[in-house]
Parts: sequence; structure tokens; C-alpha cells
Amino acid sequence: MADPHDMGKVAGTWFKVLKKRVSASLDTHKGMNMSQNTSPTDATAPNPTPLHVVCPHCHTTNRVAPAALGDAPTCGKCHQPLFTGHPLALDEAGFERHVSRSQLPVLVDFWAPWCGPCRQMAPQFEAAAQQLEPHVRLVKVNTEEAQALGAKLSIRSIPTLALFVDGREVARQPGAMGAADIVRWTHKQLGR
Ligand SMILES: [Zn+2]
Repeated sequence: MADPHDMGKVAGTWFKVLKKRVSASLDTHKGMNMSQNTSPTDATAPNPTPLHVVCPHCHTTNRVAPAALGDAPTCGKCHQPLFTGHPLALDEAGFERHVSRSQLPVLVDFWAPWCGPCRQMAPQFEAAAQQLEPHVRLVKVNTEEAQALGAKLSIRSIPTLALFVDGREVARQPGAMGAADIVRWTHKQLGR
């Protein structure tokens, strides 16, 4: 049996609940007005989380459903292909942008024009891009131009391959490699 004091508390609580309900339904009503143009099926349809893919041309971040990666997706801003089958040459700012925003793993070839083994590896890296895209983004960073980045990442020899996942370096491999080894090494680091 509740005494009058408790009943008063209960009544007070109910009043608060009712007040909350009123404001909640107002919020819902506002929300519905704002989303009139979206299809009601959107909320319930199975919708795997889209991946952030940075455009190699205009560097805009696009959202692509994982299942659509292989369907030659194009950039929503510049309408060019998000995957070209070629490594993407990036300066320091471009590197930071891609590595920090891409939800695809980013495989980086740190190289320099004066380095013979780097030039030998270039066509191998190119061939690896055709095999690893669209599940991995391949980029090249010229350490002669991006010296501060090379120093920041402690790139001690070139060529050096480094793999970044969600903005963090997860693996590094110095020395020239053939295309098949680049692909195998990358898959191994990604557990594929
Ligand atoms: Zn674009």
C-alpha cells in the first residue's frame, strides 16, 4: 500500500512523463515534416554501412556501398571514376587527406625519381593496382617532394611500401617487390 507521500511522488513522475511524451511527439512531427521526401522504405531496408572513398581526381569523400565497389562507381562531385586501375600520385596534403578519410586500406609506395630500384618497381606497383583495386587504394608519394612527410613517418630507405588502415599505419616493407609479391603481402597484412 502506498502512503499519500508516495502517491504524490508517483503523480509527479507521471506528469513529467506526460510532458516528455508531448515534446517527444512534437519532435517526431517536426522530424516527419523534414524528411517528407525520403522514401519510408529507406529506414527499414537492409543497408550495409557505406564506405568513405576519396575521389582520386577532386579528392572529395564519397560514400559507396561495399557491394557497389566493383560496379565502377563515379564521384558524386566531379563524376569521374573513383577507381582508375592506376596508382595515384599524391603530395603531402593529398596523402593526409586520403589516409585520414579513406575507409579503404591505402597502400603507399614511397619513392624518389633518382632511385633505380624505385623506377624498376613502378610498373610492378602499377600492375598491383589493377589487382588490388577497388578494395585497396594505391598511392605513390615522391619523398623528394614530400620530404617533411618522409621525415615524419621515418621513411629510412626507398622504395618502402606502407599500408594504412583507418588512418593508421599497420605494416611497412622496405625494398623493391614484384607485382605478385605486393599483392600477396598486402592481402596477408589485411588478413585476406
Ligand atoms: Zn571527384
